[in-house]
Amino acid sequence: MTATPQSPDSSKSSATQFELSNRAAFLRRLSVGILAVAAGILHAVGAEPAAEPKLSVRWKGRTNSRVKRWDVLTIGNLSRNRYWGEGDAKGVRSAICTCTVIQGEGSCLIVDPSLSNAEDMAKELDRRTGLKPRDITAVFVTHEHADHWCGLSHFPEAKWLGVPDVAAVLNKTSKLPKAVEATTGRLFGTIDILPTPGHTLNQHSLRFDCDGLSVVIAGDAVPTRDFWRERRGYYNCADFELSARSMDKIAGLANIVVPGHDNYFLNVSS
Ligand SMILES: [Zn+2]
Repeated sequence: MTATPQSPDSSKSSATQFELSNRAAFLRRLSVGILAVAAGILHAVGAEPAAEPKLSVRWKGRTNSRVKRWDVLTIGNLSRNRYWGEGDAKGVRSAICTCTVIQGEGSCLIVDPSLSNAEDMAKELDRRTGLKPRDITAVFVTHEHADHWCGLSHFPEAKWLGVPDVAAVLNKTSKLPKAVEATTGRLFGTIDILPTPGHTLNQHSLRFDCDGLSVVIAGDAVPTRDFWRERRGYYNCADFELSARSMDKIAGLANIVVPGHDNYFLNVSS
């Protein structure tokens, strides 16, 4: 009887398969061992295995709102940011505020026009919404700090709006070619003007419903998401305690928060 010679390849292949199956068995045993040790540790410390984090969000907005869409035009930034390791003593960059456009039936509102150069403002408006400055029917200013209204005069055909104290301060500057009109309550019958003092004593936010979500445009009542998490006012805050209370108030109303110097974010705190 002659033995059938095995080709070198087939012997290598069966050796490799043997090695692989051994390695697979080894890894299986190892993973079972690791799980057993982990379970033992968890049992020893009395811990439950980590559960999926639960997001608690209650949708608070109406779906039949007259606001049809809203867009952030410029995402703002602070001149100094303690959460980026920067001190409060001096600015390290120019501040730009977050500017938002709210479009509804027969209205097109800009909140806090943020760019002092007319061409830049028109370019951002076009780039983000396809709108022209003449399409804007009204501009609302959340508070009197100049970075929140430096682009106001680029919308000469729009109504300029602010709460009475803010309108009075802006009109006294003599830097504007026409008056800012004092307003309170509700804009276009659908956008609530909310007192959210602290950053300044007359800082106001806007709240509206869109697609079933309640949106609050907070101006500097919420400087950025990091400040929001700690309920901390910006370094130039007029009243820090009042500022924290205003953030709590916004937390109770908003699904989406648009801060004064950051991108918008989802409010999962209530
Ligand atoms: Zn401010």
